[in-house]
Amino acid sequence: MASTIGFIGLGNMGGPMAANLVKAGHRVIGFDLSGDAMSAHADAGGEKAGGVAELAAAAEVVVTMLPAGKHVRQIYQGEGGILENAKAGTLLIDSSTIDVDSARVVSAAAAEQGLAMVDAPVSGGVGGATAGTLTFMVGGSDEGFAAAKPFLDIMGKTIVHAGGAGNGQAAKICNNMILGISMIGVCEAFVLAEKLGLDAQKLFDISSTASGQCWSLTSYCPVPGPLPSSPANRDYQPGFAAEMMLKDLKLAQEAANSSGAATPLGAEAAALYALFCNSGGEGTDFSGIVKFLRGT
Ligand code: NAD
Repeated sequence: MASTIGFIGLGNMGGPMAANLVKAGHRVIGFDLSGDAMSAHADAGGEKAGGVAELAAAAEVVVTMLPAGKHVRQIYQGEGGILENAKAGTLLIDSSTIDVDSARVVSAAAAEQGLAMVDAPVSGGVGGATAGTLTFMVGGSDEGFAAAKPFLDIMGKTIVHAGGAGNGQAAKICNNMILGISMIGVCEAFVLAEKLGLDAQKLFDISSTASGQCWSLTSYCPVPGPLPSSPANRDYQPGFAAEMMLKDLKLAQEAANSSGAATPLGAEAAALYALFCNSGGEGTDFSGIVKFLRGT
């Protein structure tokens, strides 16, 4: 059955996600501060809302895809925001990647009003958003997850319920902290191998079937040659940009600080990605940090 969906944040990710909801037959009322994003949404068959309040009052489901926690808090809890204007029974889905604490605060405020909310950050990038093959990591109640799933199924391929409110964000930053740390480890090994005269292909062949095996090595090898599909073979065009990795590593550090978890390698990875980004690497693929570690 067609629903009226309000979609706020029609950027690189939100634009194609909203377009997939339109294609599936839903009425999608969009809002973005950018006129270009609004025009692209209209071109894809969506409707334009005059603002957040109007959108929230009209929608049965609201999806947000915004840059950071401060935007999400403002749009949901601020004056003229979603919580002030949503009808009873409206389902709220935030797919932005934000800090766990903000996700839990906004979800609790929604619950106080009797509104179901899930945090549903994604992995898969713009390609996945366009193809409708994103992975959604979802935090919220069983009822919230069940209500959100039919809509997430349109925009994604893998939909995982990670637990209560905020656990979607927790899953995303824990996974990406593993990824950031493991990528640096693999890059350091290739740099050391070069110094020792060990051929990159030989290291790949040995480690990909030995205890050094990991996704950063075998699915995303950071040096050209062994894995033709990896960004290393196209001068580190992203892929997954280093600045996005830095964002997620900073969120992981915020969460570690506020929860008291010791994550010394996560802290080191965040520091190294900050140095890499500040030295001009922010727009390159995150595996390009191998060049920085090599000193080139
Ligand atoms: P983007 O900057 O392209 O889009 C964000 C959009 O939000 C912009 O169009 C902006 O105008 C709009 N916006 C900001 N404040 C607003 C407000 N107050 N009202 C209305 N619109 C507002 O960013 P993106 O790449 O689409 O990323 C969105 C989210 O998805 C981020 O949290 C990001 O971390 C996450 N994410 C991105 C990728 C990726 O590959 N780009 C991958 C996974 C997750």
